[in-house]
Amino acid sequence: EHKEMESLSEMIEDVVTLLKPQARLKSIEILMGQEINQDVKCDRSQIKQVFINILKNAIEAMNDPGCIKISSHLRKEEILIDMIDEGPGIPEEVIHKLGEPFFTTKQNGTGLGLMISQQILERHEGKLEILQNVNTGSTFRVILPLP
Ligand code: ADP
Ligand code: MG
Repeated sequence: EHKEMESLSEMIEDVVTLLKPQARLKSIEILMGQEINQDVKCDRSQIKQVFINILKNAIEAMNDPGCIKISSHLRKEEILIDMIDEGPGIPEEVIHKLGEPFFTTKQNGTGLGLMISQQILERHEGKLEILQNVNTGSTFRVILPLP
């Protein structure tokens, strides 16, 4: 683990560039909404891995064309990064299982992506929140402390 001051928007941009082809295959657009320009102290490749895990899940969850929106904002001493999908959402009775190792609803899933993401965020004094959207889909919110 190697923590440095990193540009959040740059990390998000890298990840979006990486995942755009996979999204395009399903006619899914990844859009940037409101974005704050803030550096965070983090292990760049690990935090990028968190965004990749969440956005891949979002792409996999969506069966129709649509978009995934990413936005970031500040709240008190924290920075919040929301990744909002238009998938089916997550049933109430399943939400608490998402961070458990090997919990997957996919034929070829490992069920490790979210557990690893939570572990990485814990090592950054951050966390992951999962919210149900008002209409459809879910929001995965990464919370990191401000430097
Ligand atoms: P995997 O992707 O290998 O199944 P993950 O830990 O990444 O493992 O995700 C665990 C489970 O959480 C998935 O199998 C899926 O049921 C659920 N999940 C994760 N992200 C979403 C999402 N954006 N929408 C709906 N369900 C999701
Ligand atoms: Mg996954």
